[in-house]
Amino acid sequence: MNIHEYQAKAVLRQYGVAVPEGEVAFTVDDAVQIANRFGGKAVVKAQIHAGGRGKAGGVKLARSLDEVKNHASELLGKVLVTHQTGPEGKLVKRLLIETLTDIKKEYYIGLVLDRSIGRVVMMASAEGGMEIEEVAAKTPEKIFRESIDPAIGLQGFQARKLAFAIGIPNELVNKAVKFMLGLYQVFVEKDCSIAEINPLVVTGDGNVMALDAKLNFDDNALFRHKDILELRDLDEEDPREVEASKYELSYIALTGNIGCMVNGAGLAMATMDTIKYYGGEPANFLDVGGGASEEKVTEAFKIILADEGVRGILVNIFGGIMKCDVIANGVVAAAKQVGLDRPLVVRLEGTNVDMGKKILNESGLAIHAADSLAEAAQKIIQLVG
Ligand code: GDP
Ligand code: MN
Repeated sequence: MNIHEYQAKAVLRQYGVAVPEGEVAFTVDDAVQIANRFGGKAVVKAQIHAGGRGKAGGVKLARSLDEVKNHASELLGKVLVTHQTGPEGKLVKRLLIETLTDIKKEYYIGLVLDRSIGRVVMMASAEGGMEIEEVAAKTPEKIFRESIDPAIGLQGFQARKLAFAIGIPNELVNKAVKFMLGLYQVFVEKDCSIAEINPLVVTGDGNVMALDAKLNFDDNALFRHKDILELRDLDEEDPREVEASKYELSYIALTGNIGCMVNGAGLAMATMDTIKYYGGEPANFLDVGGGASEEKVTEAFKIILADEGVRGILVNIFGGIMKCDVIANGVVAAAKQVGLDRPLVVRLEGTNVDMGKKILNESGLAIHAADSLAEAAQKIIQLVG
């Protein structure tokens, strides 16, 4: 789960990680009032779940209340297109109004899980404020890494090593170390999957603080972080994925034209691979889970069909815990409810497979049966053209 910058900064503040003073505004009046409290000067930052706002005009400096008003009016309600939003952009509904910071130099600090070594890695670079992906591609030697032993956590000497490597001024190294240790504590205690500060800045008055903050959380751990879960902003998420999450369906929207309904994440991946192998493009990842009910299958089917890019659907079910007749009933019920207007290929195998096939055959729907995954993939690709 992703949260807004202003929310991430509030979490950091709780852990003593330095951030500029700032507040969220939902209206132009709010924005002006907040800036007034900051002495009239402020930075106005669009709050969307995407980076690259600076270059796209989503971060504006205001030297007077009039400027705050102008910037806030321009940004609120605007669809901001950045390199991370996709061409459709994101509607700005919230602003972060922050005190101006006298930036001396921008740096980069990030924490991610490195799956290849099974450890959290802290990355640091003097190339702050830029896209770190670009730095990694062009000048990887400018990114420094420390992998963290989970038993003892980030050690002071590791943080100092990173601070020196990226050229934090000597007299500020202790502040930078405190910052890094605090950030690591947030990452671990809040079960983050990404914590990225770009830029971390050194200020004219000798402070080290996060000018931007991105925190991502592991969905599997949200049950133990009610405070974080409350920060979820459904407006920022794909509406189909929000709908799917209500029914505990693992659904991820993609850009292809073949809708997939599969049980089990592994089989879903294999199904997508097979579609791609034969030259097709999956429209989604969807795992209906092991013990899906008829209702769940119906909802899953509706979500797939709601995607206008979908030209056909491939259902691939192995009935182990899940029974083939339940799936078949769900498919038929959903197809009737939504009025199935696109080709459907079904491959069923496992428990109650004969009952399942019978239900499909007697449904009166134009369903193409397949006996193997390869056959099913080729059929649906042919049908969608
Ligand atoms: P992003 O482009 O979405 O990553 O947004 P950031 O929060 O990183 O802001 C982009 C850039 O705006 C930063 O790299 C800074 O150079 C600049 N910026 C942001 N806040 C301030 C501020 O308070 N003062 C000044 N002078 N520049 C700022
Ligand atoms: Mn940034």
